[in-house]
Amino acid sequence: MKKALITGITGQDGPWLAKRLLDKGYEVYGTARRNSVRNFYGLEYVGAVGKVKIIDMDLLDYSNIHDTLISVKPDEVYNLAAQSFVGASFKQPISTTLTNSLGVAYILDIIKTFLPKTKIYQASTSELFGKVVESPQNERTPFYPRSPYAISKLYSHWMMINYRESYDIFATCGILFNHESELRGKEFVTRKITQFVAKNSLGDKEVLKIGNLNIKRDWGYAKDYVEGMYLMMQSDKPDTFVLSTGVSTTIRQFTELAFSVIGKKLRWEGEDATEKGYDSETGILLVEVDPEFFRPAEVDMLCGDSKKAHEILNWHPKTTVEELSRKMVEHDIQLLNSV
Ligand code: NDP
Ligand code: GDP
Repeated sequence: MKKALITGITGQDGPWLAKRLLDKGYEVYGTARRNSVRNFYGLEYVGAVGKVKIIDMDLLDYSNIHDTLISVKPDEVYNLAAQSFVGASFKQPISTTLTNSLGVAYILDIIKTFLPKTKIYQASTSELFGKVVESPQNERTPFYPRSPYAISKLYSHWMMINYRESYDIFATCGILFNHESELRGKEFVTRKITQFVAKNSLGDKEVLKIGNLNIKRDWGYAKDYVEGMYLMMQSDKPDTFVLSTGVSTTIRQFTELAFSVIGKKLRWEGEDATEKGYDSETGILLVEVDPEFFRPAEVDMLCGDSKKAHEILNWHPKTTVEELSRKMVEHDIQLLNSV
């Protein structure tokens, strides 16, 4: 039985991946950092509570990581833990850097010294492309990070490649484009929209305040993307792969898709900071741009090219952005109805 250790088991991707690996017959360990209130909603949601062995581990603590890795001796480490919210990284650049950069350096060095046969997957990100220099973006596209988050991930990405090349470690990077799900963190724009739409469908009268509606992202479904992580780790050699859908959607379009799930159509007026979205039938104001959500430096558009993953891993995303927005809205309505 193979052993996998997933860091960041309380996040979005951790539970989806844990479920996938359990189904494959793995013994799965998941790390969570100490919190005043523990929340394993994600593991509950995917039906993996009690099946994943939980270990307390903080990426900022070398000896804690060392002891964890030495006691588990995993065949595969999936390093998903991170301060992953770009917006917060502008306000907390130092802690973001420590967690996202140093944490990876610690893990790599422990693997190099004590567990050279252990494979490691690092959660790299399309944010590395930032102010894109070409479109769509693939494994050869130059990086231009635009936030402390992206820069912290640039360091860990290159550390992975350096350890792969220097010490022959199986260190694989997935450059994943945005992927969402029913377990997405509530501050990310898709979940913020789907939660709002769910509340609206139950009669809430609030207006959705949002940042730049023209931004484009290549949104996929997290459950499809964890399959890609698993496939990368089964490949003959460590490498770097882009996972994306190749379809780029504006935030305005995503908002329209989410409202369409509850049968509402939007009519837009104004532009940029003055843009507003009205219910086309009743004329009620539903959406308004609020510059509070603008970022100091923005990533205007991302669109990925996953040809390499298609050809080498036979990985293909299965879920469209329409299906994704529907899953998220329906789940958020269900959650509200259950309280
Ligand atoms: P989440 O933000 O949902 O989860 C992050 C996890 O990391 C949480 O379990 C969190 O714990 C944990 N964590 C944060 N800081 C520490 C720390 N100091 N020590 C230990 N654990 C810590 O991220 P996702 O699941 O969405 O993403 C997984 C990975 O993929 C992340 O590294 C992210 O940057 C990367 N990524 C994600 C993309 C996406 O679209 N989702 C796209 C590209 C890359 P806690 O619950 O205690 O906060
Ligand atoms: P990111 O791609 O990892 O930064 O994921 P997010 O979901 O946080 O943001 C995606 C894009 O939506 C970014 O360009 C944000 O600036 C933009 N955006 C616009 N309005 C909002 C908002 O209200 N909240 C968030 N989180 N992002 C917003």
